Amino acid sequence: MEDKFIAQFENGVKETIEKYNLISRNDRVMVACSGGKDSTTTLFLLKKFGYDVEAMTIDLLIGEWSRKNLGNIRSFCSDMGVKLHVISMREEFGCSICYIRSGVQSKVKLGNCAICGVIKRWILNKRARELGATRLATGHNLDDEAETMLMTMFRGKPDIMMNSGPISTGNPDDRFVPRIKPLYFCTNDEIRKYSKKKKFPVLYDPCPCSVGTYRRYVRAMLADIESKTPGAKENIVNNFLKVLPALREYSESSGKVSHCEICDEPCRNKICRRCKLSKIVWDK
Ligand code: SF4
Ligand code: ZN
Repeated sequence: MEDKFIAQFENGVKETIEKYNLISRNDRVMVACSGGKDSTTTLFLLKKFGYDVEAMTIDLLIGEWSRKNLGNIRSFCSDMGVKLHVISMREEFGCSICYIRSGVQSKVKLGNCAICGVIKRWILNKRARELGATRLATGHNLDDEAETMLMTMFRGKPDIMMNSGPISTGNPDDRFVPRIKPLYFCTNDEIRKYSKKKKFPVLYDPCPCSVGTYRRYVRAMLADIESKTPGAKENIVNNFLKVLPALREYSESSGKVSHCEICDEPCRNKICRRCKLSKIVWDK
């Protein structure tokens, strides 16, 4: 007999996909895999639901942590019969993410994940588009989203969230592959439970570079709030979804998408954030 929790969890993800029209049967979905429980669960479920899926991973070259994750992703994709695209930071940038981070941080104050996130988003969108994907799926969950919402509020940049939501349809440019988040309404704890029950080959340790980041601080604070106000994370996300249409309208009227003068990728300024970081590191 199928486990009740497993059935409920899978039905919940299916409902999110259907309610928000995340994927149609004609879509080619690229799942961005990190080797963690969230993206592995996303890949597993999209494949199980019968969608046309492939996987992509960026080898960030963060020592043993990256090596173990890459090994896990390779064996999982091979067992699942999913085509895997591995993109190495060495091929893309000629160095590890750590090198870029040190280069940036020696000149400007920017957190590890802020730098890594810009680089990863740039690579994933570009490569997914080049490989013909019409959807880019990530493993973001309810906890991630609630944290990001608070972080952007605290920093006074709520417009950054206009591409959030279960599907990022806020970018009127066909060079942006729409990003989808099938686990949008699943909590971290639920995904961990599902992944463990399924015995997925994943690392549950956090990325070593996330130690001391602002996100970790907000996560701990949110856990405290949730313990005193159960349902707080869900309320943050649901309330955000109510104002998202207005946020997108405001954002579309306040700046057009153009091409980056250096890499030609879509962006809202003359130079994209990835190229700004490269300029800081290599001064060119
Ligand atoms: Fe990059 Fe931060 Fe994710 Fe580590 S936790 S892979 S540094 S974004
Ligand atoms: Zn650029």
